[in-house]
Amino acid sequence: MLSEVSGPAIRVEGAVKRYGDLTALAGVGLEIHQGEFFGLLGPNGAGKTTLISSLAGLNRLTQGRISVLGSDVVDDYREARRKLGIVPQELVFDPFFTVREMLRIQSGYFGLRRNDDWIDELLASLDLTTKADANMRALSGGMKRRVLVAQALVHRPPVIVLDEPTAGVDVELRQGLWHFIRKLNADGHTIVLTTHYLEEAETLCNRIAMLKAGRIIALDTTANILARVSTRTLRVQVSAGGTLPQELATRLMRQDGNLMTFGFDNYEQIEPMLRSLREAGYVLADIEVAKPDLEQAFVDMLRRG
Ligand code: ATP
Repeated sequence: MLSEVSGPAIRVEGAVKRYGDLTALAGVGLEIHQGEFFGLLGPNGAGKTTLISSLAGLNRLTQGRISVLGSDVVDDYREARRKLGIVPQELVFDPFFTVREMLRIQSGYFGLRRNDDWIDELLASLDLTTKADANMRALSGGMKRRVLVAQALVHRPPVIVLDEPTAGVDVELRQGLWHFIRKLNADGHTIVLTTHYLEEAETLCNRIAMLKAGRIIALDTTANILARVSTRTLRVQVSAGGTLPQELATRLMRQDGNLMTFGFDNYEQIEPMLRSLREAGYVLADIEVAKPDLEQAFVDMLRRG
């Protein structure tokens, strides 16, 4: 374990944040354990970024408190900040610095003067070695995002928070990035991730909190959340239409053009469903059966929550 402190990596107690009349966080309580790979999920406007900004000390809660490895983010700001590496959602840089200069400046904020060995290691891990002396403005969006990750890690924080780190990043880079973050987690770092890619959360996170309108509507292990969704889905691509018979209409969960998604509970129901579709005049072009996934769990919970 990287930290000598016992207790949770992050503790959020009764967090309320209001912007005028709008309540962005409506009383969030949460403990993230040391060494976890934790997912913070929720639709747009749920309050994820607000929570992360409060954690980073970038805004103040209206009520409640947050601590990082025992350090309060307001009363003990410097200590809490030192324990935390934040990869922000937005790419904001001074375009005139080189990558290495940026990382040295960031090291300086944490009072680290001779940090080049670690900077070199970070650059190598993130496949940025050849870009060390390039100006920030000359980098592609994906490379800039990798620099953001390096920047968050210059002071070797035990707790790392990534706010939508793979938005707009191509598949290869995304996988490279996850490989690296997974290794950090295996080395004992606590990882907190917000993402819109539920598949990503499903494969990476061992525990998940779902936020909706500033409240936690689910907080459990990824496995338990998935176990709660019993519905399996049958996706059918049709090339010629018919009229959906009643017994299938009640099972229809989604329709995007010619792609229909039906819900079912056991596999014996598939054959009769396909038969009724054919009898109703549909020509089936493609069929896919899917197990419950986090996306489904998410839709269900948002509906209920
Ligand atoms: P997204 O997935 O879109 O990033 P989010 O879950 O991160 O969403 P927040 O950005 O935390 O959501 O926003 C929560 C709510 O607070 C939203 O209704 C948003 O409009 C509002 N909000 C956020 N920041 C401010 C601000 N500085 N002033 C006023 N309202 C704000």
